[in-house]
Amino acid sequence: ETVIEMRNVNKWYGNFHVLKDINLTVAKGERIVICGPSGSGKSTMIRCINHLEEHQNGDITVNGTRLDENLKNITHIRREVGMVFQQFNLFPHMTILDNLCFAPVWARNMPRAEAEETALRYLERVGIREQKDKYPGQLSGGQQQRVAIARALCMSPSIMLFDEPTSALDPEMIKEVLDVMIELAETGMTMLCVTHEMSFARSVADRVIFMDEGEIVEENAPAAFFDSP
Ligand code: ADP
Ligand code: ADP
Repeated sequence: ETVIEMRNVNKWYGNFHVLKDINLTVAKGERIVICGPSGSGKSTMIRCINHLEEHQNGDITVNGTRLDENLKNITHIRREVGMVFQQFNLFPHMTILDNLCFAPVWARNMPRAEAEETALRYLERVGIREQKDKYPGQLSGGQQQRVAIARALCMSPSIMLFDEPTSALDPEMIKEVLDVMIELAETGMTMLCVTHEMSFARSVADRVIFMDEGEIVEENAPAAFFDSP
């Protein structure tokens, strides 16, 4: 079952051709790691999937829905796709619990009690439940990123996109975030991760995609990447 399909996707920033004929098919439950040099278009590519960035030609279909010209179904697509950024993007003036309840209550009309119950379940899962009444600034970077993952999961996405989720973290906090991502992978979540963490790629990815200058230049099972001479 195909959940993401990119067909001949091209994008320009002004004159700069940032994505060149991207073709990518992702099956349900696949874990894909995207790597490649800085500036090669990795972030732009995954941001096109939930239309945080607009592409100029080609087709992107998510769970069978193709974005129509007037963007009418963009909400429908974003509902399917959770995203975690390098900078955690938490609301600094809200408690951890409020950060998690905000979108379910205001965008989904979920009753507050139900949103809290869901939030607490995910906070428990990422090991942050005790911090629920604190503000993001009172947490370490690793804890904030785990909150960001929990917040995305509260919207029950079928696909999770990670854009260098550990790059802003001190080394000792990287593992705690990767462990949460590994557990998520074990639940069967479809995941696309832009990351330089090759240990993660080796242990979790079904496929590693290597980008260079806006193109997918290599695509392989991790073993083929890491064990070749
Ligand atoms: P990566 O994630 O592989 O580091 P990005 O997708 O972030 O690459 O960026 C690809 C290229 O597009 C880079 O050269 C970057 O400078 C350029 N770029 C990114 N965003 C913009 C923008 N909003 N306007 C113009 N150029 C951009
Ligand atoms: P990055 O860390 O990749 O540079 P940005 O800081 O530019 O990302 O964040 C992009 C913006 O998109 C943020 O303002 C964020 O609130 C918003 N955003 C995050 N997730 C989604 C989503 N699933 N759908 C729409 N907008 C989102």
